[in-house]
Amino acid sequence: MPDVPARPRVVIIGGGFGGITAASALKRANVDITLIDRTNHFIFQPLLYQVATAELAPSDITAPIRWILRSQRNTEVLMAEAREIDPERRVVRVDDDLRELPYDYLIVAPGSRHSYFGHDEWEPYAPGLKAIEDASEIRRRFLLAYEIAEKSENPKEREEYLTFVIVGGGPTGVELSGAIPFIAKKALVAEFRRVDTRRTRVVLVEAGPRILPSFPEDLAQHAARDLADLGVEIRVNSFVTKVERDGVWVGGEKIRARTAFWAAGNKASPLGKFLGAPLDSAGRVKVSDDLSVPGHPEVFAIGDLTTFQQDGRLVPWVAPAANQQGAFVAKSIIRDTRRQPRKKFHYFNKGDLATIGRSRAIADFGRVRFAGRLAWFLWLFVHIMYLVGFRNRIVVFIEWAYAYFTYQAGVRLITDVERYKPPAQPPTVAGTTGR
Ligand SMILES: Cc1cc2nc3c(=O)[nH]c(=O)nc-3n(C[C@H](O)[C@H](O)[C@H](O)COP(=O)(O)OP(=O)(O)OC[C@H]3O[C@@H](n4cnc5c(N)ncnc54)[C@H](O)[C@@H]3O)c2cc1C
Repeated sequence: MPDVPARPRVVIIGGGFGGITAASALKRANVDITLIDRTNHFIFQPLLYQVATAELAPSDITAPIRWILRSQRNTEVLMAEAREIDPERRVVRVDDDLRELPYDYLIVAPGSRHSYFGHDEWEPYAPGLKAIEDASEIRRRFLLAYEIAEKSENPKEREEYLTFVIVGGGPTGVELSGAIPFIAKKALVAEFRRVDTRRTRVVLVEAGPRILPSFPEDLAQHAARDLADLGVEIRVNSFVTKVERDGVWVGGEKIRARTAFWAAGNKASPLGKFLGAPLDSAGRVKVSDDLSVPGHPEVFAIGDLTTFQQDGRLVPWVAPAANQQGAFVAKSIIRDTRRQPRKKFHYFNKGDLATIGRSRAIADFGRVRFAGRLAWFLWLFVHIMYLVGFRNRIVVFIEWAYAYFTYQAGVRLITDVERYKPPAQPPTVAGTTGR
């Protein structure tokens, strides 16, 4: 238990799942909280792909952090970027001027970003999906591809614009690739004259032997069949060796496509490096049993920033884990202020869901697992229930019902057209080998 004053100052870095839950759980505690986030909004990341595929608007899955915590009198929210942490002096330095925020307790919950496995030069050609800006960029590229194909006089080029490559067969890659055929074949088909949007080709590339490695094999196979029914080509055991402006190289083969999206890997926030704790290969902090940083009981790291083993298995990097960890560290701080001993963190797995296309999903609850429409209804219910804010729940419910019955994708806005300049090809790097 750290040496702390009677009313400690708690600084929380990150207003995502972990940070918001920690702040909320400290609502009635005898502490002063400063929550900092570099954006002003919380994002419900599980539905980001629906913003990327024009099914939902950014405002449907976000909520201002200030608004979420508005009734918490012991909490201030600062829109600021944490740049450095000095655990010895107990300060966080923020923004360009490295203004110092002192703390008695620090909860570090800045999440992760996508990783290109050492090939950041691929990012301009295959954006990943983490922030609202990423989702808007993917939506822009996705919709623009059809506009350019409609104008093109060159059949080969048109085909390239109607081909989408998604790299990474985890839940995000599967959800993205399952959503595109529905929009292409149902929502867009009546509106284009020169291109047949039903000829859209979606290729899902996965380096491992199967898609959805975090799900049991039978469910993953079910999902693969569902994707194949939708016309998605799945390439497993396929390493991406290069991404270019007009295609993705898989081994020696180039899949010609003007649009690629990256859903292949994550790396933790660079803030973890300041904590002086051991890190895994993705930069995640190895935390102690109580989620504190070894040698610093007053510093906790939670959510996607961390790696934590339980019963010989890694706790997954999912929203429920970040939520449970946020609530747990808040309780530990309260226990400290009451001079009670801390407990060990224990993750409770509530089960996993992933959706495929417009009306299918898979559900894994350990011994109970199922697939199909029932799983999809459960997926809808769970996602509506966990969205932040009554308004968002109602709006998303109406958008989904409308899309389901009319086959429309509601948010087909191409913004920032002026900004759109396909990135130039970077110099060839000899001998790129992918992951
Ligand atoms: C596309 C996608 C789909 C997903 N689907 C699912 C799903 O279906 N089910 C599921 O359970 N999980 C899903 N996840 C994973 C889940 O969203 C994460 O596990 C969860 O968000 C982790 O919570 P966190 O609090 O660690 O980080 P986040 O929720 O990512 O929050 C981090 C916050 O920190 C802020 N931040 C970062 N760096 C700084 C800094 N230096 N200074 C200040 N603020 C900073 C960010 O702006 C952000 O608000 C998905 C993730 C993605 C990207």
